[in-house]
Amino acid sequence: MARSVIIEEFGGPENMKIVDREVGDPGAGEIRIRHKACGLNFIDVYQRTGLYPLDLPHALGMEAAGIVEAVGDGVTHLKPGDRAAYASMPPGAYCDARVMPAAQVCPLPDSISFEEGAAIMLQGMTVEYLFHRVWPLEAGDKVLFQAAAGGVGLLACQWAKSEGIELIGTAGTDEKCKLALEYGAAHCINYREHDFVPEVKKLTGGAGVSVAMDGVGKDTFGGSLDCIQPLGMMISFGNASGPVDPVSLLTLASKGSLKLTRTTLFTFLADHARCQDMAKHLFSKVESGAIKVKIGQTYPLEQIVDAHRALESRQTTGSTVITL
Ligand code: NDP
Repeated sequence: MARSVIIEEFGGPENMKIVDREVGDPGAGEIRIRHKACGLNFIDVYQRTGLYPLDLPHALGMEAAGIVEAVGDGVTHLKPGDRAAYASMPPGAYCDARVMPAAQVCPLPDSISFEEGAAIMLQGMTVEYLFHRVWPLEAGDKVLFQAAAGGVGLLACQWAKSEGIELIGTAGTDEKCKLALEYGAAHCINYREHDFVPEVKKLTGGAGVSVAMDGVGKDTFGGSLDCIQPLGMMISFGNASGPVDPVSLLTLASKGSLKLTRTTLFTFLADHARCQDMAKHLFSKVESGAIKVKIGQTYPLEQIVDAHRALESRQTTGSTVITL
């Protein structure tokens, strides 16, 4: 038996409950993994509220690290006893153990702890594709990154610094701005106290950034577009403040032939080989010391409701880990 966090209806954090269930054996292409730690991500909130709908009842959680217990037919990249970590569909990672598709589960190097693995798979592979697979970024490029002190944010600050990219971050408090600067942001604007658009213009000598990366969504999308130089790129990748309102294509023309994409990590992870490459690239950044994993807070599984409340109310910094 294993504990698992499920919802029977979409709604607030209080809708989550812990149930016991049988784990079973893996079929072809699957593994059984016993978790040591799970990661908390904003996508878990969207799935819990129904913004990203699930068939109900459904288990929650998209990321974990642990030890492989059994592998099904056709699984060759993992074996029982291996340390492993993943960010993967389907939701259900907030649990002691599960059977799941093997393709997106990755061998975890010994040098990276289970807690660190659970903290970085989803957020770190997101930064990997944002910096390397959407738009060709080069040393010296200026990037606007919204919510720079969050889980994805602090990893992005460090990744940018390690590649010579000038990351201009935003965050909701001066303390969070300080943290983003410590982790490698070139600048950080407290966007609850200052309009970030003129600040970004000032910091770029009036030119604007070549790319904006925006996981905050509704509250910042328009401002992010205003910070981008002509022919630049807008990467919208999240909705922490709510989904972005519909955009007229003519807006992109009037602001200088901008490009716009709305990305999701799971498109990039869908290919097994690419997923494994992305994980290796992320692990190499950690092992080289370029990225230090910032676990801002941990909660035991029994306190999953408190963990969701903290993430939604902007109280967290860095990554959040659920211990088992
Ligand atoms: P964070 O740790 O960054 O938490 C979200 C942060 O967003 C908050 O701490 C807060 O920072 C900021 N924020 C601004 N407005 C609000 C609001 N109204 N309510 C809540 N938070 C707000 O979360 P994650 O690192 O898990 O994810 C960051 C974003 O990236 C999310 O939107 C997530 O969905 C997205 N994401 C998208 C992926 C993709 O591939 N599309 C993959 C991974 C993440 P502050 O107080 O500083 O404003």
